[in-house]
Amino acid sequence: MDFTLTKEQEMFRDMAKEFAEREVVPSVQERDREERFFPEIMQKMANQGFFAIKVPQEMGGLGLDWTTMGLVAEQIAAVDFSVALTFYIQTSLEIMPILIAGTEEQKKKFIPDLMTGKKIGCLAAVEPNAGSDATSVQTTAVPDGNEWVLNGNKSWITNATVSDYSVVLAQADKSKGTKGIATFIVENGMPGYSKTKISHKLGCRSSDTGQLFFRDCRIPKDNLLGAIGKGMATALQCIEFTRFGISCMAVGVTQACIDASIKYALERKQFGRPIGSNQLIQEQIADMIVGNEASRWLSYHVAYMKDQGITSTRETGIAKYHNMDVAMKATRTALEIHGAYALTDDFPMERFYRDMTGPLIFGGTANVQRLVIGRFALGIDAFR
Ligand SMILES: Cc1cc2nc3c(=O)[nH]c(=O)nc-3n(C[C@H](O)[C@H](O)[C@H](O)COP(=O)(O)OP(=O)(O)OC[C@H]3O[C@@H](n4cnc5c(N)ncnc54)[C@H](O)[C@@H]3O)c2cc1C
Repeated sequence: MDFTLTKEQEMFRDMAKEFAEREVVPSVQERDREERFFPEIMQKMANQGFFAIKVPQEMGGLGLDWTTMGLVAEQIAAVDFSVALTFYIQTSLEIMPILIAGTEEQKKKFIPDLMTGKKIGCLAAVEPNAGSDATSVQTTAVPDGNEWVLNGNKSWITNATVSDYSVVLAQADKSKGTKGIATFIVENGMPGYSKTKISHKLGCRSSDTGQLFFRDCRIPKDNLLGAIGKGMATALQCIEFTRFGISCMAVGVTQACIDASIKYALERKQFGRPIGSNQLIQEQIADMIVGNEASRWLSYHVAYMKDQGITSTRETGIAKYHNMDVAMKATRTALEIHGAYALTDDFPMERFYRDMTGPLIFGGTANVQRLVIGRFALGIDAFR
């Protein structure tokens, strides 16, 4: 297997790194403090072509691969996880469901504006009583003439209050269970649709998270996205893309922890010499490096499989589980190496530490990844 990056992949990686330093770093501390979203950065990312990476060329996109998506996510996450997440899910949870399940009309209507950053979307699967078990959605969709009528609540939805529309998972035929679930596009301003922001999150503060409410919400028949019964499969496919992205972002965060820890360990003197002279500090840094080397190759392997069209549910679960574990440990180690100074937001360590609590949960918790891996190993589905 050859993981040598192409010139184009290297170019996107370097462009993302330069972009992150120039456009994301200057406001990161303030946005985190103020829990402020970043429409100006979204537009600049669109101008760089970042939202067009997975859009086919015949639709005006770049038609590139998941490896490129992963490399860009990794570089942005190394400075700001909130921006990296929003970059990534504009493709994985907004563009992809429409590319996978949309009609030609829906693609023409939504993709150009998403690709150029004029519109932001969100994907709403999780509900107050349907978290890890997304199949237990209680939001209903009932046909009525030329419309669908939606009722229910969605919670913990990324981009909820900044989005122009949401792709909503709802039960259209309860008698069929999971096979009755469908996805619908609900646009802002449709009657009975409202949202509210979730504030004061521990991490990912600059990323928008909120709740969506549907109260006899009427949407046109044409806003059904894909066939009834296919909604769960589409959502799971897109969540798997997101899992892969999180595994790449974890690599970026861990690398940032390594780089900052090395720099600080060489500068900070205690007992008359740099703290990096101590074997215990070197051991801590070496462990982060070993962990991230494994993380990087796990995520590149998943990227390779996705780009080859090879099913990678198991490998994506392994990468997400492993890389998040390594990243969480690395943020703690980096915090420790930076001593008391790490507790202020003059250093990014405390933000990295807090931010990792978000992706530990979304995209499927560590336990959910374990059960995916266990299902492949034992042939027993522990979810049932
Ligand atoms: C910042 C943030 C952004 C998010 N963005 C989105 C989004 O854009 N769209 C969306 O739809 N959702 C989103 N979510 C929701 C996220 O997907 C869910 O929080 C996640 O799936 C877990 O669900 P839960 O929080 O209800 O936990 P629960 O499912 O209630 O789980 C609680 C605990 O029980 C464990 N557990 C549950 N079932 C089992 C089992 N069978 N075996 C062993 N352990 C189990 C879990 O691992 C976890 O530790 C987001 C969440 C956060 C925090």
